[in-house]
Amino acid sequence: MAILSDYHMHSYHSADSNAKMTDMIESAINKGLKKIAFTEHMDHGFPESEKHRSSDWEVNVDSYLYELLGLSEKYRDKIDITFGIEIGMQKSVFKENAITAKEHEFDFVIGSIHTVNGIDTYLPEFFEGKTPKQAMQEYFKTQLENIRQFQNFDVLGHMDYIVRTVPGGESVYNWKDYGDYIEETLKTLIENEKGIEINTKAMSKGMKEFHPCMTALKRYRELGGEIVTVGSDAHKPENIADHFDKVPDVLKEAGFKYYCVYENRLPEYHKL
Ligand SMILES: [Zn+2]
Ligand SMILES: [Zn+2]
Repeated sequence: MAILSDYHMHSYHSADSNAKMTDMIESAINKGLKKIAFTEHMDHGFPESEKHRSSDWEVNVDSYLYELLGLSEKYRDKIDITFGIEIGMQKSVFKENAITAKEHEFDFVIGSIHTVNGIDTYLPEFFEGKTPKQAMQEYFKTQLENIRQFQNFDVLGHMDYIVRTVPGGESVYNWKDYGDYIEETLKTLIENEKGIEINTKAMSKGMKEFHPCMTALKRYRELGGEIVTVGSDAHKPENIADHFDKVPDVLKEAGFKYYCVYENRLPEYHKL
């Protein structure tokens, strides 16, 4: 079966997208999807940059929800639209994140790491003065520390995202160097009934594998993990469902029989 749900996308309600919600929805319909989740950015305490103030990364949830409800109604015969959020986890804003997740009736919450020690891991600055191995170690360690502290999310977003931004990319990534952190991360997720996502943006950015890589996917399954959502992380309509045709085989190879969508923070399983 094809994957009919894209569970990670952004519109202009996120600071790094200009896309209209209607354009995202219509693209999803044209691509044959039956269900989508908007997962706008909520990154409390995000570092300032030349382009953005810190507060730009905090979505105005009320206006986002207001528009989403209207569009859900308008498109109800064509597609299901889920109210999601992508929360940027940082230990310094643990309380703000806890309040965000509790205050709103999200259907689906992605918890992601976008910063390490207050620095945006997307920027070259994060890698200055470090070997790629040191930088990646810091990232995986921070990810583990965050999910031990903060659990009000449903799936961990783009688990090995750092592999995409590190100088050298996949060629300098060796699972074994971070295996202890990743293993503990997967165990912590499973103990707390959290899922992971297949984030297909990795391939759209030229990587050979999705986030996370096959080794991590297999290990999550071996340890008893069952919850995997699938998301393109599209910020433009044309990127919705990118590379979804490859996902069923990847999931089956890793030992999965289902992929998940969420309603009211609970997973629903769909056969692959
Ligand atoms: Zn993200
Ligand atoms: Zn995202």
